[in-house]
Amino acid sequence: MSNVPVAVVTGSNKGIGLAIVRALCKQFPGDVYLTSRDPGRGQAAVAQLQQEGLQPLFHQLDIDDLQSIRALRDFLKEKYGGINVLVNNAGIAFKVHDTTPFAVQAEVTLKTNFFGTRNVCTELLPLMKPYGRVVNVSSMVSSSALGGCSQELQQKFRSDTITEDELVQLMTKFVEDTKKSVHEKEGWPNTAYGVSKIGVTVLSRIQARLLNEQRKGDHILLNACCPGWVRTDMAGPKATKSPDEGAETPVYLALLPSNADAPHGQFVSNKTVRPW
Ligand code: NAP
Repeated sequence: MSNVPVAVVTGSNKGIGLAIVRALCKQFPGDVYLTSRDPGRGQAAVAQLQQEGLQPLFHQLDIDDLQSIRALRDFLKEKYGGINVLVNNAGIAFKVHDTTPFAVQAEVTLKTNFFGTRNVCTELLPLMKPYGRVVNVSSMVSSSALGGCSQELQQKFRSDTITEDELVQLMTKFVEDTKKSVHEKEGWPNTAYGVSKIGVTVLSRIQARLLNEQRKGDHILLNACCPGWVRTDMAGPKATKSPDEGAETPVYLALLPSNADAPHGQFVSNKTVRPW
């Protein structure tokens, strides 16, 4: 088993994820795994970074596929005995003008952004080593979508006692409500991406709380963040930040020094804790 520290970035064959891997290759003292659901796209991205003189490693990972997540888990457990840095970056968004029915957009978006990310956490968080760092890439849209929820939902999503099961039930209810076209009546905002990212931010708050309760002595720090508005296939060419600039806050959180005890369980943008 290798004693080398290891960092893993989900959805890192392009966009912000690729830029996070680039920065970690330069700054993280250990092995950095670029992961992609498609091995061809992943290997092409590895080759691109190699051209830049960097040495990322590759492993397949489709966060929609539990078998794929578990294969990565088993590999990391066997080769490294755990994980030092996990960046949950993989995500999807329908374009504003996409005509796919809203209920389908809701189901597909929640499947990857919330349920996929949660499955990765369920399988990989138990492998986090002491002083590990976990970064869940959410979005400022989670905050604006929270503001668009009913008071009752806002209270639930801001609660310091909400459980993961309760959050899963709420995310499932959103998808069901869109199918019955009652989501607005039920207090949801009209954004599937926004609700999925509410899920990511609230999940991060819950997971940080559980780490406090169950593994306090391990000094693991886990946060959600917004990378900013970044020029990628998702956000388009008009966005204000380059992918490397978008990687700055996730990388800052991934590399919080071992003597840091904060931020933890926070929503962070531009390296600053934001109110939730
Ligand atoms: P992007 O360029 O579209 O890249 C998304 C990445 O996620 C791709 O590598 C994609 O792989 C991967 N992915 C999607 N579904 C996956 C799955 N099931 N399993 C594994 N990988 C999967 O988007 P981005 O702008 O870099 O976004 C990265 C993260 O930042 C997302 O979570 C996004 O919501 C968040 N974010 C972005 C912005 C922005 O302005 N760009 C703002 C706020 C938050 P494929 O190439 O195979 O599709």
